[in-house]
Amino acid sequence: MLQWEELHRVCMDCTKCALCETRNNVVFGVGNRQTDILFVGEGPGEQEDLKGEPFVGPAGKLLDDMLSIIDLDRNKCYIANIVKCRPPKNRDPLETEQDACIDYLRNQVALIKPKIIVCLGRIAATRLIRPDFRITREHGTWTERGGIWFTATYHPSALLRDVSKRPDAFDDLMAIREKIRSLSME
Ligand code: SF4
Repeated sequence: MLQWEELHRVCMDCTKCALCETRNNVVFGVGNRQTDILFVGEGPGEQEDLKGEPFVGPAGKLLDDMLSIIDLDRNKCYIANIVKCRPPKNRDPLETEQDACIDYLRNQVALIKPKIIVCLGRIAATRLIRPDFRITREHGTWTERGGIWFTATYHPSALLRDVSKRPDAFDDLMAIREKIRSLSME
């Protein structure tokens, strides 16, 4: 396991998959490295690729709003993605790209030691919870593994596209807030 500085340096220079050829920036992750709660999306979009930060632009604004509902902000949690470089045209990251990149996230998890991991959207949930995870049916459910509680809710981009999903996402957020309280993380 690498420590933060070394991990960041290696990740910034990474050429382990073809996404390195089209990226502008590696999007390593942001937030509080001493937090108990980690949010994981699928990969950087256009704005994130340009700025080198996860969840900026309209989806990022919505994520900030979602965090504030449960009394969190970017200084109180950590935010990362399954792949650190932008898939062209925002397509889903390929299995091979996820496989190439996942050790960086594993290393981040090992350093942060979160009590809760919230998967944002299908790609993160199928990668981190279960390969056949169905986000529409199983969002808001909880699974404990290795001392970490995993759950999933909709990706903010999906909530921008389809506002009818927002009440379900709100319920998921309430469940996350309850889990934070039950684990005495406040
Ligand atoms: S997506 Fe991950 S594995 Fe692929 S080049 Fe970027 S940092 Fe490396």
